[in-house]
Amino acid sequence: MTPRVLIAGFKHETNTFSKLPTDMTAYKARSYYRDDAVAAKMRGTATEIAAALDAADRHGWRVRHPIYANATPSGRVTQDMHEHVTRVIVETLKEDGPFDGVFLALHGAMACEHDEDGEGRLLASVRDAVGPDVPVAVTLDLHANVTDRMAGLADIMISYRTYPHVDQLEIATQAADLLQRAMAGEIKPRAHVRRGRMLDGADHGRTTAPGPMTEGLALLDGMMAATPGCLAGSINGGFPWVDIHDAGPSCVVTGDGDNPAHGAIADKVMAKLWDDRHRLTIETVKIPEAMDELAAALAEGPPSAPVVLADFADNPGGGGYGDATRLLAALVDAGLENAAYGVLYDPAAAEACHRAGLGAQLSLSIGGLVDPQVQGGPLAVDGTVTAVTDGTFAMEGPMTAGTRVDMGPTAVLTVGGLEIVIASGRFQNYDKMYFKHAGIEPTERAVLCVKSAQHFRAAYAPIASKIIVVDDGGGLTSRNYRDLVYENVRRPVYPLDLD
Ligand SMILES: [Zn+2]
Repeated sequence: MTPRVLIAGFKHETNTFSKLPTDMTAYKARSYYRDDAVAAKMRGTATEIAAALDAADRHGWRVRHPIYANATPSGRVTQDMHEHVTRVIVETLKEDGPFDGVFLALHGAMACEHDEDGEGRLLASVRDAVGPDVPVAVTLDLHANVTDRMAGLADIMISYRTYPHVDQLEIATQAADLLQRAMAGEIKPRAHVRRGRMLDGADHGRTTAPGPMTEGLALLDGMMAATPGCLAGSINGGFPWVDIHDAGPSCVVTGDGDNPAHGAIADKVMAKLWDDRHRLTIETVKIPEAMDELAAALAEGPPSAPVVLADFADNPGGGGYGDATRLLAALVDAGLENAAYGVLYDPAAAEACHRAGLGAQLSLSIGGLVDPQVQGGPLAVDGTVTAVTDGTFAMEGPMTAGTRVDMGPTAVLTVGGLEIVIASGRFQNYDKMYFKHAGIEPTERAVLCVKSAQHFRAAYAPIASKIIVVDDGGGLTSRNYRDLVYENVRRPVYPLDLD
């Protein structure tokens, strides 16, 4: 038999505290591909879709890939957008079927205007279209908030195991190979999910140092190896900046047949994560301490390799607006030499730099526009336009290597010794190309500041002499959860009510 498989992707990590709606414009600003463009854009990249396409070749699947849509984290996905993508997938399933299997690359933390469980709603429509017996394989981000509905509607459910996320190919290959076995009738997979009384936990899933996540995965793998019928296991750090009932860490075990022992493994993993909830492998500091640490690192003269500061609380990769200026203002005030900062979201400032042209000297107000109350409003600076670009490049990796980025008109405004990359789109800087495409060689700078919480480590830790993670509170991705007003998450929950 030549199995017929639908491959699609629909991703979003929704920060419900963001005022930016996630509509078609937001998707088109990052990735929105249809039909042949899905394969043309994604083959050969370090992504789940590329792995699924490779698996299709290996297993001889006949595939349709009607859509891949991914938007930078922001507010709730609009009802229109969710219904559009759902309709594209369901119509393909109905009109071009029957299909023997479905492979979906999802995130797992999508909340919509009309449903706080975006993935569960999509899966319900997919299940309606294919019926109960067609296996559905789902890959998720490690920061998924997995609901019972999601796990009940998918057969195979596997999340990344690395943060920074560098194993999309491996987990998607695992999911695709299990889908093949399920379609061949060798296995009948079932996904079992367990959550805890935690909004945040598992050290947010970090795997850059031994800690709760690596120990949890080891415990999970040990129990799975000792229990017949286990097919795959995942720990989700959860995404805490979404005010929905089921937000938070979870463990998902995919097993063959409906075996309670597989759910019991997830229970034991969650018990360990509860015990480990206070353990963190990173330390964050407030801006004054960060500037003291930076000054100390530079006191002996230029460092041998860049000191890297991470703007944890305004991470566009978690829904931060990417235009907060509080840390930027401190860096400007410090009068740094040979320093670079990026990426600041400000379409108007990028356009003003383009209009003025290379070499122009400008007095400009930058950043702080989406919500001036969050982490600093517009910052007045005097600078020189030292680069103008179209904001396009391919990422060099390791994370999502090969993926095309289009930030729109982008410029570098140099203020004193600080080169500020200003873009027309909101992007997390987790690849050196965000600097390099604008002529800034990160390895040659004394100081780099990136708007990123953890993913930056994949590209920047290998070139850094020191890393300083700055969380001054107040931002949309700050760890100070008590600064935010949660109304929908289940209570009591750690750390809002429970210690
Ligand atoms: Zn993630």
